[in-house]
Amino acid sequence: MSATLRSVPSPAPVPRPGILDIDIYMPGESKLPGGVEPIKLSSNETPLGPSPHAIEAYNQAVKDLARYPDGQATALRTAIARRYGLDSSRIVCGSGSDELLSMLAHAYLGPGDEGIYTAHGFLVYRIAILTNGATPVVAAETDLKTNVDAILAVVTPRTKMVFLANPNNPTGTYIPIDEVRRLRVGLPGHVLLVLDGAYSEYVRRNDYEAGLELVATTDNTVMTRTFSKIHGLAALRIGWAYCPEAVAGVLNRIRGPFNLSSPSIAAGVAAIEDRAHEEAAIQHNERWLPWLSAEIEMLGVQVTPSVANFVLMHFNRSDGRTAEGADMFLRSKGLILRRVASYGLPDALRLTIGTEAENRAFVAALADFMRKPAT
Ligand SMILES: *Cc1c(COP(=O)(O)O)cnc(C)c1O
Repeated sequence: MSATLRSVPSPAPVPRPGILDIDIYMPGESKLPGGVEPIKLSSNETPLGPSPHAIEAYNQAVKDLARYPDGQATALRTAIARRYGLDSSRIVCGSGSDELLSMLAHAYLGPGDEGIYTAHGFLVYRIAILTNGATPVVAAETDLKTNVDAILAVVTPRTKMVFLANPNNPTGTYIPIDEVRRLRVGLPGHVLLVLDGAYSEYVRRNDYEAGLELVATTDNTVMTRTFSKIHGLAALRIGWAYCPEAVAGVLNRIRGPFNLSSPSIAAGVAAIEDRAHEEAAIQHNERWLPWLSAEIEMLGVQVTPSVANFVLMHFNRSDGRTAEGADMFLRSKGLILRRVASYGLPDALRLTIGTEAENRAFVAALADFMRKPAT
């Protein structure tokens, strides 16, 4: 008798507890109705694009697509290690740093465990915690800034992991390395502290360090980094983690054996070696971040001081100009920003620093919006 689909009602497959509590991550949008070519300032990508050497390396890699990539991404780990003076055996590469964040949660969190992130922390942390059946615990921030005492106050015997983006997205704020050290000292030793340094290259502050030394000198701190932001390779999905030896061993056990493609490895090597291109991106940001922040404030919109390649601006509902209204108006002018209501910031918009022309177009459009009679 051949197998038939049963017509009697049967229970449908059910995902693990926690999965259906996840709100699907909505990336920054990139399209406008009517096929207008938008100015996309919604995903913190660099306006400079990738290093020309990275594009060249990617094109060269196309010649060898039939071969599996090097599963250890040795060339990339070696290049990263050389660039930052690290031990390459403690670097694990991922398909974007998102994959590394997910793998860390998968390895260290399960039902009954708690993972902490801050009130306006990057949403991927919550998703990674819930995916593994663990409980998300949110620590309060102070003026949209990480508050170390508030994190320490929500630690319980069940806490296994703390995720901290420094600087944070979408707020653009940071805490000094002394505060990160104080957090590490205050956390129980078995709690893994994950420092997400997606924007660390942009920060120009004397009291800031990404935390590579903290990783090197403790056995319970990990740092994740990405090629998606300053290196302009978001499409290729390249991230890396610097880990204590034991954590690197754990990640290497659970990661896909070929989790980076060879074009990604090749482009990543060229990108990390192009110091001049990275420096140009920093200089561009140094020029336009203060300019945009000042221009926006002069138009009467409050800006949270940022050290990254984006700014968070706050609209004032009571004067009739909402973030939603601003977003709609800016879209009508071809500008796409990031709504951040899903981050608990319904009155704010996040703006990525663009090219000079894009930045000027944005300020002109915002000026038009603020001049319009409020509705
Ligand atoms: C953009 C971003 C990342 C990087 O994600 P990739 O997966 O590497 O593209 C990680 N963390 C934060 C806070 C980010 O904003």
